[in-house]
Parts: sequence; C-alpha cells; structure tokens
Amino acid sequence: MERVYNFSAGPSQLPLSVLEEAQRDMVNYKGTGMSVMEMSHRSKDYEGIIYGAEALIRELMNIPENYEVLFLQGGASTQFAMVPLNLFKNGKADYVVTGQWAKKAAQEAGRFGTANVVASSADKTFSYIPKLDKAAFTPDADYFHITHNNTIYGTKWNTLPEVGNVPLVADISSDIMSEALDVSKFGILYAGAQKNVGPAGLTIAIVRKDLIGDAMSICPTMLSYKTHAEGRSMYNTPPCYSIYISKLVFEWVKNMGGVAELEKLNKAKAAVLYDFLDNSSMFRGTVVKEDRSLMNVPFITGNEELDKKFVAEAKEAGFVNLKGHRTVGGMRASIYNAMPIEGVQSLVNFMETFEKNNK
Ligand SMILES: *Cc1c(COP(=O)(O)O)cnc(C)c1O
Repeated sequence: MERVYNFSAGPSQLPLSVLEEAQRDMVNYKGTGMSVMEMSHRSKDYEGIIYGAEALIRELMNIPENYEVLFLQGGASTQFAMVPLNLFKNGKADYVVTGQWAKKAAQEAGRFGTANVVASSADKTFSYIPKLDKAAFTPDADYFHITHNNTIYGTKWNTLPEVGNVPLVADISSDIMSEALDVSKFGILYAGAQKNVGPAGLTIAIVRKDLIGDAMSICPTMLSYKTHAEGRSMYNTPPCYSIYISKLVFEWVKNMGGVAELEKLNKAKAAVLYDFLDNSSMFRGTVVKEDRSLMNVPFITGNEELDKKFVAEAKEAGFVNLKGHRTVGGMRASIYNAMPIEGVQSLVNFMETFEKNNK
C-alpha cells in the first residue's frame, strides 16, 4: 500500500492505525453484523460510540462539568451564526480579525447585531496577531471572539485577550487537541472535525452551560445549543460515522499519551520546519516569529516559478498538498496531530536537496 505524506490544510491526514481499525470493522462492527453507517443512532451499540466519544474528549481536553460537549453538523461556518444567535442579548460582540475565517465569523454575526472589529492584521496579510487596545473593547459585549489558530495564514494566539467577565469564544478548528488549552477560560470553543480530529461532517462545540437556553427568538430550533444539549447531540440523526471515526482518533490521542504529549511532539515537529526555514537561503516563513502556528506553516521562495516547481517536484516525491492558499501564494505545510515527525523531517530533507539543485 502506498501512502503519501499529506500536508493538506483540511480535510487532512488521519492516523493510519485509525483507518485500519475502521477497515477491519467496516462491514461488521464488533459482531453486530452491520457497519456503523447502517446502525440506528438510538441503538445500544451506537450509544456506546457517541457517549464513549464524549467521555474521551472530556478526559483528553480536561473539560469541566459545567460545559456541554455537543456533536453538531454544518461545519465551523455554521458556528459563525450559532454563536451570535445563542449569545446575543445586547446584540453586540467584539471580534479580532486575524484572517479570512475570523472575518467571515464577524460578517455573519453582523447579520444579527453589531460585530465590532477591535483589531485586525489585514494590513500585513494577516502575518501577525495584532496587539489589543482595551479602550476599543465594547463594555457590554455579549462575547469576544477570536480564531485561535489561523489555518490560512499560519498564526496563533499565544496569550489570550483579557476580557474580564465577557465570555471568550474561540474557533479552534485547526488546533483542537494540538496543545493543552484551559477550557475554563472560554465561554465557547468550536471546531470543524476535518482538520485535527476526523472526517468532515462533524462539528464540535464546547459550551459553558450558563450560556445555553437564552437564544434569540429568531434562532431556528436546529441552531439552538439548548436543542442539542437536551438531546445529548441526538435531537436528530447525528453525523454517526464521522463521530465513530473521531472516537477512534480520540483513542489514538490517548494512546499517544494524551494532549500534553502531542503538544511536545507538535512543538518538536514545528521546530524542525521553522529551524530549516530560518536558516535557508531559498525558503522563508511568512509569519512573525512570536505568532507562529504549530499546525500550519506557510512559506515562500519569493519566486513564483520556483514555488510552482517546488510544489510539483514535492508531489512527485510523495509530499502532497503543499500549495499555499491563493491569498498567500507559495507553500503551506499543515502538520496536524496525525503527521508524524518523520514526515516533517523527510520534507525538510527534500527541501534541502531542492535548494542545492536550484541554486
Ligand atoms: C476550516 C476552517 C473553518 C471552516 O470550517 P468548515 O467546517 O468548512 O465550515 C473555519 N475556521 C477555521 C479556523 C478553519 O480552519
């Protein structure tokens, strides 16, 4: 079997052992005589999967009792609407615009109230996390929103904004379970599964319980956190198979030693690539050092033709999906939890050779 090193930003590489386990159980899940896709979500077997997945994510992320863990659909993009629909009372929220996803989140909230942009890094193609001026914060904001890791531009928040009693809401689509997070500092955390957890189709929302139950009157039933909290994520049919695969990934994370161990590994992986970029005379990273993401690493040669040649030759050599986002150009290596350090080291070796051959 030929597997490539897949540096896709999402959907992205999954651990091989997870895919193999799913393959073994594909047509007959643990003696049930059927696949997980064919099972009633109300069955005992499926309850074991969904509640098992919830227990694992609670354990791995150390989620306090006063938070709900919801398995939803619609992607992180639907959370851009669910957050304001469920949290707006004064109809005001603060947003920091650190990239396209943050901008889209703010725009969507603006449909239901006032999304005040307190800071932006658009002036330098989102290559840094802006400094915040508390004087710009809305005192009676219903929440304060950040994108914790910026998938497209490769920045991340290393220090959380000080928001006092205003609930902090964070999009963690591309860095969930990549490093230890103190969940209690947040009102809501949300993530589409397809970057660091599992297949597309599942969206995870971790919501402080006191923020549930007072949605705007126009909020559709399916977009209310209360609906899904009361239904334990089975108000309607959940994305059953995506939840099953995610549970296998959570088991894999646990076997790897948990999130703290993965954080160490992710730091080591990122260091291999950033150290190379800092010392290369051909390649360089596009982000200021202090705000670099551990998950998404954009880089360029400064020459578009050379970038194209690199992406094409890398693909030939088994390093795929390295083309950068169209708004940044160049390359981007997404090195999520499932990317082994050998993959990053092999990529760096390949880059070294490419640099020598193209001087
Ligand atoms: C991919 C991504 C999104 C969009 O996710 P969907 O699940 O496709 O809606 C939103 N925010 C961030 C940070 C992302 O990386």
